[in-house]
Amino acid sequence: LNLGLDALRSLPCETLDGHHMPLWVNTGLFADVARAQERGAEGVGLYRSEVPFMTNERFPGEKEQAAIYRQQLAAFHPLPVTMRTLDIGGDKALSYFPIKEENPFLGWRGIRITLDHPEIFLVQARAMLKASEGLNNLRILLPMISGLAELEEAQRLLQRAWSEVREEGFDVPMPPVGVMIEIPAAVFQTRELARRVDFLSVGSNDLTQYLLAVDRNNPRVASLYDYLHPSVLQALKRVVDDAHGVGKPVSICGEMAGDPAAAVLLMAMGFDSLSMNATNLPKVKWLLRQLSLAQAGELLGRILDLEHPQATHALLQQTLRDLG
Ligand code: PEP
Ligand code: MG
Repeated sequence: LNLGLDALRSLPCETLDGHHMPLWVNTGLFADVARAQERGAEGVGLYRSEVPFMTNERFPGEKEQAAIYRQQLAAFHPLPVTMRTLDIGGDKALSYFPIKEENPFLGWRGIRITLDHPEIFLVQARAMLKASEGLNNLRILLPMISGLAELEEAQRLLQRAWSEVREEGFDVPMPPVGVMIEIPAAVFQTRELARRVDFLSVGSNDLTQYLLAVDRNNPRVASLYDYLHPSVLQALKRVVDDAHGVGKPVSICGEMAGDPAAAVLLMAMGFDSLSMNATNLPKVKWLLRQLSLAQAGELLGRILDLEHPQATHALLQQTLRDLG
């Protein structure tokens, strides 16, 4: 980076032709907050609520959760904070809630667990709602949705949590609710899902894993794990077009959004915000400021015509070199 972090922080994430690309951060620990703010994030696109559960020795109670969520919401206020409901299972284990399965990534994880244990979901939803009182910058995000029934059940629970909290005297509005698009089935029901919610967020880590049938953590098949695979790019483009087709904003919060070259493509696809690790934010911002949206669109057009991921990697590398 030829530009100091400090100087970059106060500059907008804007292309040469004036397109503003909101850069958000992913958080989990309270320690992430200061770093995110230092780097000029415009919101939190993904707060991984399982993180405080993983560092605990038992399920945190409602009050305890509310205090943790309040810290995040208050620290970023008035910027929006997107809190994902508990996404355990897969590779994210709780010592006090052991799950033994042959295929954990295809098993009991995310929304599947919390819909089977509505008491866990309700406690968490009430804690988030109570924490948001007077701040009103909460957004709730549902992980691992594979179809409408799960979404509708989760929405029923959210409504119930909301009326309970109001009955207790908390003056909170129902926050915007969103769905993660991270299971291939959800890609093909983007429109149906989007119509029922306020926003979407693509989880490209899981979407890549499930589209390519490659375990995201298995080193033996790591070379096959590629978010620039033509099928992944086609899926992402389709999600953006379908979400916008029904008038809903769509963000992306997988690691891909923090890869500067990939971020150029995501911006060109039309993502409304990119959410990433605070560490990557300055690099992404720096690169997006070096080119125009028109150039990014042209690059995306060429890349969507490529049939091999190797060709995509080569063209992106060339482009990065040209941009310095
Ligand atoms: C994803 O799947 O891309 C995502 C952001 O969620 P996680 O990495 O927590 O599964
Ligand atoms: Mg995921």
